[in-house]
Amino acid sequence: MATETFTGHRGLDMDEPLIFEQGAAGMSGVDLPGAGEFEDRLGDAGRESETGLPGLSEPQVVRHYLRLSRNNYAIDAGMYPLGSCTMKHNPRLNEKLARLAGLADLHPLQPLSTVQGALALIDQCADWLKTLTGMDAIAMSPAAGAHGELCGLMTIRAALEAGGDGRAIVLVPESAHGTNPASAHMCGYKVETIPTNGRGRVDFGAFNERLGPDVAAIMITNPNTCGLFEDEIIEIADAAHAAGAYVYCDGANFNAIVGRVRPGDLGIDAMHLNLHKTFSAPHGGGGPGSGPVVLSGALAPFAPVPYVVSADDGYALVESAEASDASPYGRMKGFHGQFGVFVRTLSYMMSMGADGLAQAASDAVLSANYILAGLSDDLTLSYEGPCMHEVLFDDRFLAETEVTTLDFAKAMIDEGVHPMTMYFPLVVHGALLMEPTETESLASLDQYIGMVKSLARRAKQGEVAAFKEAPRLAPRRRLDETTAARNPVLRWLPGDKAAAE
Ligand SMILES: *Cc1c(COP(=O)(O)O)cnc(C)c1O
Repeated sequence: MATETFTGHRGLDMDEPLIFEQGAAGMSGVDLPGAGEFEDRLGDAGRESETGLPGLSEPQVVRHYLRLSRNNYAIDAGMYPLGSCTMKHNPRLNEKLARLAGLADLHPLQPLSTVQGALALIDQCADWLKTLTGMDAIAMSPAAGAHGELCGLMTIRAALEAGGDGRAIVLVPESAHGTNPASAHMCGYKVETIPTNGRGRVDFGAFNERLGPDVAAIMITNPNTCGLFEDEIIEIADAAHAAGAYVYCDGANFNAIVGRVRPGDLGIDAMHLNLHKTFSAPHGGGGPGSGPVVLSGALAPFAPVPYVVSADDGYALVESAEASDASPYGRMKGFHGQFGVFVRTLSYMMSMGADGLAQAASDAVLSANYILAGLSDDLTLSYEGPCMHEVLFDDRFLAETEVTTLDFAKAMIDEGVHPMTMYFPLVVHGALLMEPTETESLASLDQYIGMVKSLARRAKQGEVAAFKEAPRLAPRRRLDETTAARNPVLRWLPGDKAAAE
């Protein structure tokens, strides 16, 4: 961004060029002896031109990545109220355990006799996830929530097809996360939408009317993406079962009810758990996600391989579909899933205890309701509370202004807070979905509420320009998201630089 400094930096806020722009031919971070005489065995397959990789010294590389890391916003840096995504604090204890050499340096092809401890860890983690959800079986391997949805639906399809039943429809509520219809579609189902009622929940009447012999499953999110508990879940599950359909639950919001409600008691047949949401493992760049799927007794025989079984002489693995005599579709993924995330999850469960997990759920709900109470005079609440772990506002409070939800979110960046989730769920106009991490202190919630209130008042007082220009204080100003999506420049090689100039 334009500044009046010679360097382009603004104090400690460094303007960092791309690594390809910094690279210079002949620079190197290592001292390698010259190649000497050698015989080129690649022949015509050998490279004839430069690789295009940037040449940089070691200090340049260190500074580049350190500076970039300082531009990164993370839950470790400040409040991250991203609704639906549940940005949980990642306890350092988990990280310490996941880095133990005996766990971190395992290879999935090691002989079973050398990984008995790891299998015990997977088994114990699986067992507690089943206990917390009140379900009979679990598939540990799915790599994330969306992958878990696909796994759950493939399991449902396998169970139906085993009975010669070719049902083709999956019902998905209007407020569902986009991955739900996408997973159903990938699994070969036709998706039909069920409307949301005036209370922000699945319209039971419309659902009941649509049920029939062609419906394979309903996918329901509970608590749902409006931050509300689906209080007719038992009626919905009963009606689905009576019609021969299965109930898939999107368990992304399990953090609101863990230790308090067991989905198995509500009639759920399959549900994924986002270990990176409920069980404090990092999202994205901090480590891969993980989406184990718990299954009811009816679906258990159709679970994918592999799974751990305990035998007389230790733990063993069921690895092939033939060996399990069901598992009709085999594996979801190579090996066992995200083992490092299982370590973090078990560490979190063991350090929290059953009471601690239930307390975390209660604190999440309390914090969200505190924000609901603090902001409902200045913003417009979409559905009457109380809410669960996240609170949904819409943009009616901005109606008389020219400020949009997007402008409002950008202004939050100038305040040093990551914006809430915006424009999701789609059932309300200009959604602002706020989910405070349950580890935020009262002081930090108060500061957040004060900040949002002050922005709302400034918007209503007509300070449009400040919102349209936001963020003004971030390393980058507002990006042209349309061009970025339509015409992405995903790599930058020396030739591109010349072409761009
Ligand atoms: C996060 C989320 C998903 C998808 O989970 P991933 O782990 O990101 O694949 C699905 N549904 C809801 C409601 C979510 O919040």
